Amino acid sequence: MQPVAGPLTVCDPATGAAIAHLPHYGATETREAIEAASGALHASVTRSQRRVWLERIARAHVEHREALAEIITQENGKPLVEARSEVDYAASFYTECSRHVERLQPRRLSGTTRGHDWTIFSRPAGVAGLIVPWNFPLAMLAKKASAALAAGAPIVVKPSEKTPLSSIALFHLLHGLDLPPGMVNLVFGDAPAIGQMLCEHPAVRVISFTGSTAVGKRLSARAAPHVKRMALELGGNAPYIVFDDADLERAASELTSNKFRCSGQTCVCSNRVYVQRGVVEPFVKLVAERMARLRAGPGTDPATTLGPLIDRQGFAKVRELVGDAIERGAQVVLGGAAALPAEGEGWFYPATLLTGVSPSARCLREEVFGPVVPVLAFETDQDALEAANDTHHGLAAYVFSGDEERAQRVIERLRFGHVGFNCATGPTSAAPFGGMKQSGLGREGGEEGVLEYVELQTVPSPASA
Ligand code: NAD
Repeated sequence: MQPVAGPLTVCDPATGAAIAHLPHYGATETREAIEAASGALHASVTRSQRRVWLERIARAHVEHREALAEIITQENGKPLVEARSEVDYAASFYTECSRHVERLQPRRLSGTTRGHDWTIFSRPAGVAGLIVPWNFPLAMLAKKASAALAAGAPIVVKPSEKTPLSSIALFHLLHGLDLPPGMVNLVFGDAPAIGQMLCEHPAVRVISFTGSTAVGKRLSARAAPHVKRMALELGGNAPYIVFDDADLERAASELTSNKFRCSGQTCVCSNRVYVQRGVVEPFVKLVAERMARLRAGPGTDPATTLGPLIDRQGFAKVRELVGDAIERGAQVVLGGAAALPAEGEGWFYPATLLTGVSPSARCLREEVFGPVVPVLAFETDQDALEAANDTHHGLAAYVFSGDEERAQRVIERLRFGHVGFNCATGPTSAAPFGGMKQSGLGREGGEEGVLEYVELQTVPSPASA
């Protein structure tokens, strides 16, 4: 594989202007990082030391909240208020994991079995390669790094090339926190070369990847011959189901806050909205009123509630999917298939509301990753359920109904790892989160997240008298 030539340029999505030029790292630097991490694996660290690291990292986020948030806004484009809440969310993972470290103490089986005492140890699984997307650069890093460090697994982090600056800033802070040499490592640049080294180097035992399903599949295939553990947090295609007995005001408000976070570029944002026929008209009116209040602009402006998309490619995809839906008969209530911005204008896509979307429209099958709400009518609960489950994805879904029994009947049949009932709340650091079907493998958050980085070792020994 040829190394990538030239610098890595990071751009501000609000203007398209370059804000940093960085080196392109590749296979050589990744191997060096893995070898440094391997050295740290054998350093004997106690559980209480790990707890202290995690608490210090959480504190560093809190102390440098504003600076970290400003960097996220510059490289990702999201409004500052969202960037601050991302820093808080990231910190919460380190705090949460610091509480789980003690649960990894050796467990002795009660009594004897086969004439022996049995002890189960939680060992660090090995070096962990952590590959992070651009939509929540610090939070997605935190989900992985907090769990790996709690387990004592050294990490090699690869942020997205679109948003490496917040990770670089965080690593500057980590340098001051007295972690053992080699425990935390950062590489960025040539993604395929870095990915290949992480998949093939024998010291890497866990690869945790958050990103698109297509790249996740490619990495899984590459790692398979080396029998590595894969933790995959992949794409979503979230259905949002509104029954005719739902609190429509609430359903409309929740939809707006869920859908327009990070300008619709989140894995848990509703991708398709199914509304029971009798309430389509009032519901669409309520949503349109809320969308009309969104204020597009650069994330640094405190009045902004809708930032730009990440880049030209992201913009072009949203425009294409909206155009396809319109060609197949959708009516435009707000926004539409926007023209590509001129040089220097930034990647601002107008909030778009479509009704009467054809079930054949591409935006119902592919992640739109933009500020677009496609609405479809349904007749019966069974129709809604079948339409919602008709996808390879299974990450998040939302159900709104005034009848809890009815909602629970639907929820238990939905093949999604996260289902909001009368709310469109995303994940929390305190609970496991992850996808079913092609949305992923494994869970992040809660105690379960730590177990992804642990190898259990069972030690029988002659029974003590
Ligand atoms: P992406 O797959 O393009 O990139 C994700 C990461 O993988 C980036 O760091 C990228 O540089 C890297 N990458 C790309 N090609 C690679 C290769 N060949 N080898 C190694 N690394 C490679 O995804 P993205 O555009 O950054 O993020 C958006 C996607 O992430 C969406 O599909 C979204 O749903 C998903 N996502 C999922 C979750 C979740 O929790 N399930 C959370 C956030 C985002």
